[in-house]
Amino acid sequence: MQQSKNKKDFFPRFSPEFLRSIGMFQKPKLPKVDVSEEELLEDLNRYVDFALKLGCEDAKIIPATMVRVDERLRLKCRISMCHHYNNCANCPPHSPTVEEMKKIIPMYRYAIVIKRNVEPKEEFVDPKEDIDIARHYRKNMEIVGLLEAQAFSDGYYFAMGFAGGSCQHALCMMQECNVLRGKRCRFVLKARPAMEAVGIDVMHLALKLGWEVYPVRARPIPPEEFPCAKTFGIVFVH
Ligand code: SF4
Repeated sequence: MQQSKNKKDFFPRFSPEFLRSIGMFQKPKLPKVDVSEEELLEDLNRYVDFALKLGCEDAKIIPATMVRVDERLRLKCRISMCHHYNNCANCPPHSPTVEEMKKIIPMYRYAIVIKRNVEPKEEFVDPKEDIDIARHYRKNMEIVGLLEAQAFSDGYYFAMGFAGGSCQHALCMMQECNVLRGKRCRFVLKARPAMEAVGIDVMHLALKLGWEVYPVRARPIPPEEFPCAKTFGIVFVH
């Protein structure tokens, strides 16, 4: 697949002015250690509202323990031999393992899950160019990064986001990963592992939340048979 179009047209970013106009990034707050349930839920509801204003189709607050991890997700990266496998610092085998996630997830009380509608859906189910998919993953990663940064600046200093797709594809446009060459990541604040790269069962989570989800590019099903295409992300907040 070729990248023949102007990248700037494909990757518009949210401006700081826009982010502040919707109430994000107003003032830093003191670290929150013993936050009350009431205050935490109030903040989580703000993050849901921000996610919607950033263009998500839906966002939900969930107890962190609702997230299921499964070693078979990482097996899919390995056996299909995804070309990001072992080539990107945020992809397996470098991304946090299922064993690590099993210990980490219960340390959080709540997470925000986001859902984005991919339009036109053909860019996911029948992409003509690499950039078609990349721009949706990049926007998803940007929103996850912004929500994580918002929670962090609100004092939730353990906030951690996971997006969808490989950052080597979405952000670095298939360039060699800087981190694996011992250099600084080109997108420190945006590059996050995909949920599936750490073993999070995204399909299970989406279905539990009542969201419509299909395994896209399940060839040879014709693209027009897919009712929709979605991207998902999660931010563990506190
Ligand atoms: S954004 Fe690029 S440099 Fe950073 S971890 Fe991903 S592939 Fe590596």
